[in-house]
Amino acid sequence: MSSIIDGKAIAAEMRQEMAQDVEKLTAVGTTPGLAVVLVGDDPASRVYVSMKEKACAATGIFSDEHKLSAETSEEELLALIDRLNNDSRIDGILVQLPLPDHIDENKILDAILPAKDVDGFHPYNVGRLATGNPLFRPCTPYGVMKMLEHTGVELAGKEVVVVGRSNIVGKPVALMCLAANATVTVCHSRTRDLEAQVAKADILIAAVGRPEMIRGAWVKPGAVVIDVGVNRVGEKKLVGDVEFEAAKERASAITPVPGGVGPMTITMLLYNTVESARRRAEAK
Ligand code: NDP
Repeated sequence: MSSIIDGKAIAAEMRQEMAQDVEKLTAVGTTPGLAVVLVGDDPASRVYVSMKEKACAATGIFSDEHKLSAETSEEELLALIDRLNNDSRIDGILVQLPLPDHIDENKILDAILPAKDVDGFHPYNVGRLATGNPLFRPCTPYGVMKMLEHTGVELAGKEVVVVGRSNIVGKPVALMCLAANATVTVCHSRTRDLEAQVAKADILIAAVGRPEMIRGAWVKPGAVVIDVGVNRVGEKKLVGDVEFEAAKERASAITPVPGGVGPMTITMLLYNTVESARRRAEAK
């Protein structure tokens, strides 16, 4: 029987600490500012953007919202990014993905000043992470690392198995674990014998997007399981990539879905924004 890693509680504690940091920065005239850009009216994106705005407000971060129509041209969006890059009140720029098809997503992400790229997706920041000198780390994988830290999980020398190799979760979390001196295996859709790979993990990080595809019986007894997956099953139920009920009988600690990694993502976005503002204050 394992302990449950409570992402909501860890996120709440971090947000409380951040609110104090924001107060201190505001007192020296550097209120952290986050620009959030939404193009079009994708319902899921709208929900994420409004969650981000609320989280900023609760922490005292200045949130600068730009809700643009789906017809916005690439040039118009690039012009907005340019203005935000040069706006001294803005420490972080977040462009909500996906963008409409007529806009080249990479071109937009590349236009964000790396020093304001709080999502950590700019090739410059990816390169800094890969070379072991990160400026901004992508939010979801960074959240995973903070959860491990809060849970007191030591990574050095451990076998970490990451299932999934996306640019937003799998690859960056693998790089972060490597930087923390773990021995890292990255699995994907062409991996042979996933079960055998999973079975050797001291720390298992699942980021696949397939409901409960990692069976509880595969989990090594005593392993720590971090489930990044969020999969809707039926009308209302959300499940992770790991078969939670069976896995929790074998793991020493495990994240639930929902209430695990989910609450950490926005928290880390705020964290990166506050960090960016701190750099601005120090440069004054
Ligand atoms: P992607 O679809 O971009 O990547 C999925 C990865 O899983 C790919 O690398 C793919 O391999 C791999 N994969 C697919 N099928 C298998 C299989 N049968 N065996 C092994 N590997 C497989 O997803 P994301 O990384 O964007 O997201 C992953 C999950 O995390 C999703 O459920 C998503 O909703 C969730 N998520 C949650 C967040 C949060 O805040 N909690 C934030 C971001 C994502 P290949 O490369 O070979 O195709």
